[in-house]
Amino acid sequence: MAKVYVDEDLCIGCGLCADTCPDMFELTDDGKAVAKEGAEENIECAKDAADTCPTEAIVVEE
Ligand code: SF4
Repeated sequence: MAKVYVDEDLCIGCGLCADTCPDMFELTDDGKAVAKEGAEENIECAKDAADTCPTEAIVVEE
């Protein structure tokens, strides 16, 4: 089972991942991104978001 999560120590809250995959990532009140429930279901979009994240905060484990 694939796993998608955001390392909040690395995340700078730029919002790019939520723009790329709005169904999968959202920004919290803390200004950090989190992977939503079911984010693993669209692994290709998660990988795109991981590739474009400026701080490489998105971890995709397959
Ligand atoms: Fe955080 Fe990366 Fe998403 Fe930007 S793209 S909000 S740094 S996880």
